[in-house]
Amino acid sequence: MNTIIVETSARHIHLTEEHIEILFGKGHKLTNKKDLSQPGEFACEERVNIIGPKREIKNVIILGPARKATQVEVSLTEARTLGIEVPIRESGDVAGSAPCKLVGPVGSVEISEGVIAAKRHIHLRPQDAEKFGVKDKQIVQVKVKSERTTIFDDVVIRVRDTFMPYMHIDTDEANACAASGNIEGEILTTTGLQMHFGLDLISDGNWINEILSKKIKDLREQLKADLNIDMPTILIRDNLEISKTEVVFYDNGVTKWRKDFNEADKNNFEEISDVIISKIKELYV
Ligand SMILES: [Zn+2]
Repeated sequence: MNTIIVETSARHIHLTEEHIEILFGKGHKLTNKKDLSQPGEFACEERVNIIGPKREIKNVIILGPARKATQVEVSLTEARTLGIEVPIRESGDVAGSAPCKLVGPVGSVEISEGVIAAKRHIHLRPQDAEKFGVKDKQIVQVKVKSERTTIFDDVVIRVRDTFMPYMHIDTDEANACAASGNIEGEILTTTGLQMHFGLDLISDGNWINEILSKKIKDLREQLKADLNIDMPTILIRDNLEISKTEVVFYDNGVTKWRKDFNEADKNNFEEISDVIISKIKELYV
């Protein structure tokens, strides 16, 4: 239930209206070639060359629509090719980032800042954030399942009504985990509870969706009231390989406590909550 599709963003450029006109001609409008996973974003027909002090990278794709500031996103390997040092930043945060020259079919432009390596991130709508038990700007770990399964730390959560749930990594990161095509990542919790429900329970999907979300909310409120523990991360996972329910409590990435509930069902979830709370009390009080 806490899995997310991982997409690879190859090098690309966002341009201002002003730079579009300089590079492609007066009055030029970007041509939508393909819509991207985030609503309103599209890959364009237009291409430009990025010129660095060392080498150039030709035919780099433009992503639309036009933005308030021109931003060039490259991998660290590509930055090395260009001969520039780029900071790792969230999209839109370009102040003091690296310079480069862009050459289009009509003109060229020197930008004094705007070249970054994108910080790996997850786009979520508020309802997805709620489901995953995470908040805007929270840093999480994500386990990407591939031939070269890799856990990425330092993944920033970004929540906005207009987003669709996807994780974005760059080509260096994609190569690190041997990602090809769209693969799945699992959001891991660094501090919080993970509940793994086995096959017997998830077959009753309504229970998980309707009753459990309320129970989890109660549990979170009780932890806050009794222990003043803010537990933003309570993840629910299904595990088809087990028939029991496992509850795991992590503190800063370390497993502090784990318990199996062989007879867990919707009727004794109150009991389970009590066991969890008293155990956490034991650990913290
Ligand atoms: Zn993104």
